[in-house]
This record gives sequence, C-alpha cells and structure tokens, in this order.
Amino acid sequence: MRKYTPARFTDVKLTGTFWRERLDTVLARTVPSQHRQLAAHGILESLKLPKPVPPVSIPPNRHNFTTQIFWDSDVGKWIEVASYALAHKRDAEIEARIDAIVEDLAKAQLPDGYLSCWYIQRELENRWTNLRDNHELYNAGHLLEGAIAYYQATGRRRFLDIMERYLDHISDVFGTGPGQKRGYPGHPEIELALVKLYHLTGDKRRLDLAAYFVNERGAEPNYFDIEAEARGDNHYWAGTHEYSQSHKPVREQDKAVGHAVRAMYLYTAMADLAAELDDAALKKACERLWEDITTKRMYVTAGVGPSAHNEGFTKDYDLPNDTAYAETCASVALILWAQRMLNLDLEGKYADTLELALFNGALTGLSRDGEHYFYDNPLESDGSHTRWTWHPCPCCTMNASRLIASVSGYFYATSADSLIVHLYGGTETTLDVAGTRVGVVEESDYPWSGAVSITLTPEAEAEFGLKLRIPGWARGARAKVNGETVDVSAGTVNGYLDIRRRWAKGDRVELDLPMQPERVYANPQVTADFGRVALKRGPLVYCLEHADNPDIPVRQTRLPRSAEVRAVAREDLFDGVTLLTAEGKAIGSDWHDTLYRTDPPEERPATLTAIPYFLWNNRGPGPMQVWVGDEA
Ligand SMILES: [Zn+2]
Repeated sequence: MRKYTPARFTDVKLTGTFWRERLDTVLARTVPSQHRQLAAHGILESLKLPKPVPPVSIPPNRHNFTTQIFWDSDVGKWIEVASYALAHKRDAEIEARIDAIVEDLAKAQLPDGYLSCWYIQRELENRWTNLRDNHELYNAGHLLEGAIAYYQATGRRRFLDIMERYLDHISDVFGTGPGQKRGYPGHPEIELALVKLYHLTGDKRRLDLAAYFVNERGAEPNYFDIEAEARGDNHYWAGTHEYSQSHKPVREQDKAVGHAVRAMYLYTAMADLAAELDDAALKKACERLWEDITTKRMYVTAGVGPSAHNEGFTKDYDLPNDTAYAETCASVALILWAQRMLNLDLEGKYADTLELALFNGALTGLSRDGEHYFYDNPLESDGSHTRWTWHPCPCCTMNASRLIASVSGYFYATSADSLIVHLYGGTETTLDVAGTRVGVVEESDYPWSGAVSITLTPEAEAEFGLKLRIPGWARGARAKVNGETVDVSAGTVNGYLDIRRRWAKGDRVELDLPMQPERVYANPQVTADFGRVALKRGPLVYCLEHADNPDIPVRQTRLPRSAEVRAVAREDLFDGVTLLTAEGKAIGSDWHDTLYRTDPPEERPATLTAIPYFLWNNRGPGPMQVWVGDEA
C-alpha cells in the first residue's frame, strides 16, 4: 500500500495567480482548440467505423511506420484533458463532444471487446502481431485514462464500460496461461492506467494485469523477437531492445536507456506497483534508475532524453544544448514518476525534481496563449526553433495540458498521521488528516516569492504532523507557528520540516524560503556546459532571450563571477514576472569573412537580462541561451 496518498486535484482549489492563470488558459483556450485540431486533422473522423478506408494521411517514415497508428491515444488524452477541465467546471458542449466520441468508439468496438480503430479499419487480421512498434496497448492505456477521468468528472460510465470490455479481452489474450500470448506493450502506458482503474474500482484483476505486463517485460526469449519472427521481420529498425526497456527484466535494470517517454512511463508503473504490491526489488530498481538519471542524464531544466535519434537516452553526461530533444512528454512523465516515488518515501529529492520538471521541462511545452507547443526543448537556439500549432505526433500537446489541468493534485498528500505539503502556491483544500477534517488555506505568490502562509482549520483540535517541504535550493529557510520561531534545520528530515503538535482552528504557519538568484554549474564531464553557468531563482531556470537583449548576441555572452545577479519584478510582462539582470559581457563583433584568427574576440560590457525558461519563444522567434559563458 502507498504510505503517502496524494490529494486529488479536484479536492484542491488553485487560488494563486500563477497556476490559476495557466489553468484558466487551458480551460478556455487549449481544450477547445485541441478539439478543433483533432477534427481538422481527421483524427476524430478516423473513429467512425465502418466506412471506406481513406488513404493514410500521415506519410510513413523510413521504417514504414506512421504515427497515425496511435491516433486513438490522442483522442483518449484529449478526453482526459477535457474531463479534468469538466472537473473544474461542467460544460454541456464539451460533454456532448466527448459523448459523440464515445458513441463512435462504441460502434467501432468488436463483439469480442477489441478496440483499435486503426486495426479494425485497415488490417484486423494483423491485430496483436506487433506490440513492439504498433501501440495497441498504449492506445488502450490512454483511452482508459480518458474513460476514468470522464467517469470521475461526470459520473457517466458508458466509456468506462467500453474500456472494461476491452480490458476483459486484453486479459484473455495476454498472460502466462495456456494459449495466451506472453506479450507486453512496446510503449508502456496501459500499466499506469490499470493501476488508476484499480484505485477507482478495487478490481484486483486490473492490478494483476499491470503487474503481469511489468513482470514479463524483458523476459527471455524476448517476446518482441518471437513476434517479429512470426511476422517474418528479421531486422529490428531500432537495433536494440534497450529502445523499449525490454533488454532485461525490470528488476535488473540500472541504467536509463532507450526512448525517454517509454522509460518514464515504465518507471512510473514500476513505482506504482512497488507501492501497491510492497515489492522491495521493484522499489530498489526504481531508486537505482532515479539515481542514474538525476546524477548523470538529466538537463538542468529536468529535460530527459537528449537525442532525437532514439527520442531518448544516450550516454552519461551527454547533454547537448542546441540539439537537446528533451521531449515535453518525457518531463511530464518524469513528474508522474516523481510523484509515485513520493508515495513510497518522503524524500525531498523526488519533490525537488518534480518541481524542477514542472516549472521548466514540462511547463515550457505550452505557450502563454494556450494554443502553441514545444515538442523538443533545446536549451539554446539560433532562433529557428519555434512553437507550433500542431504536430504530426501531437502527444506533447495533451500531455502538457493534462498536467496543468490537474496540477493541483501535486500539492498535498496525507499519511496515517501527517499532512504533507510538496508544492507551494495559493491553494485551498479540506483533507482528512489522521481522522480529522482539516481546512487548509495557503497564500503565496510562489514561484515569484518564497513567502508562504498556511492557515489550518481542523474541525476539532487534533494532533498530527504538518510536513513542509524545504526545497533543496532554499538556503536559510525560516518558519513560524503562530508567530513563534521553529528551528528549521533541526526539524527537517529528508527535505521535509515536520511540525508535530496539537493543531487548533486558525493556527497559522509562516514559511520563508529565500529566493536568491543563483549560479548553477554543471559537472565538468558535461562538456556541453563546460565553462558555462546557468541562472536559477527558486525553482525556475532562466535563459537569455533575444526579446529582452535585442542589442547583444545572446549566445555569445559572459557573466563574470563577481557580477551581482539581481531579481527585478516586471508587472507589465506576461501578467507579472521576475527577471534576472547582471552586468556581463558581449563577445565578438564583425569578423567579416574570418573563421580563425590569432587575436582573441572583442569584449564589451553589456547588461544581461534573463527570463524564466518556460516563457521563452512567446514573443516571436529569436535566439535563446540557458548556459552563458562563465568568467572566473
Ligand atoms: Zn510527446
């Protein structure tokens, strides 16, 4: 069982301006615009079966693979986002759109429960013959997450019933029994959805199926080889089963390899199951993989998976900036994983990475207007990298928006005797803590300010621990309870300050997390960042963008270590933002046609202005740089 249970996002109201604005944008603009895009690109139409089969609209790649094969997942993810929106505010028009999709899926579903629109329409005889590449189980996972979210938002269970029938079919096909296929998903995802369904219904068969998929992964002989041979396919385009983390059994894995989103979803499922099944070996594997990534294979923005080649991991310290893939989905999934690790152990390192990924790697994926996206997230750009309105593979669009629409679910958790605060920002909630209903009102201008005030209103006086995360970046944190100072360093264990007392109505906790601008240096083995420095303040990573530095080449700058970095509040920019400025240097002038010379480049004084990385490319294209030159 989970030791720590996150509060549901529907139980936590966002009142602070930062997340309220993002949430309102997703509700008002992103959800409707994504539906328009799904319609415009033929994705909704693809669910209407049977009918004459139209030509494939996304041309196959060099491996003869079209991403159209996972259109069902995009529909499932949109329903999930839209349902999260409905949980905030019911909307008859959105519900009618979802119901229309559900009716199409109901008509498409085969009598035996099978439901993949691609296969039903185009190659039914080939169903369940290429789990490695063709995403049937991944699609089922996202449809299931959509069905769960829609049921939770509306109480309507038609979609959930459809998916339960599909799961019954999947359980018949896969497993270790006679006549069953020993297969598992090429792209993990359904495992997470099955655990969610288990939490919703208590149906142990769904948890067992998730455990089967995770346990079977990487068993020898490799199932993907068996099915490839049956297809007559003797050349695996990816070259290695590391690509799908099926190169060895999951409990033996100790390096993060292969496709980053697959890896993050798999590790999330492993952590889920470690908690549900009290599986120490699975937990240990998660801890090893966590250490591997966060000490050798993660960007300063919590982006993961540097290479476009495999959309994933390469080797230790290989973190190039201009070609960083760092897919938005991978950072979103890293947040899911971090949350699952926090269900197992209250360790500040998990919450620190969760927060880093939230404010940087993931939030960057959605534009201010709520209708433009990043798929890959480089840490420097010559100006050619820009947000797009849609993508042939629109996975990241709905991943960023479903995260934001449910972000309030990452703030609080409870255990048998404690209320835990992982994230800060203005929120209101009422939670069951150690048998008592406790109202919680948190006021804060986080992430712009580290001043946090929390007022507790237990329905009756009650003793419990209030565990407040003290972020790793916060030096000199201070806390008071009803005006009396609490010793933060003495009371903090593994990054959480534990204030245990008898709480009464109106008790007030003040927390001050100093947000000094900070310089961050990379391990020198990260050659891409060698001789460079990045700027942070609180959880936010900053970058130099052309829009704020029109007179200097932002990719050719230096910041002396002696220069003071100042935080500057700008109310006029993006509804209020804190910039960082410092007196640095701009390097180089006109070298004409010279490529090399013996005279060093010219330097001139220049004021450097840095903006939070998640906000870049919201003012048109232009060069951007996270890591600037470090001058000792
Ligand atoms: Zn993606």
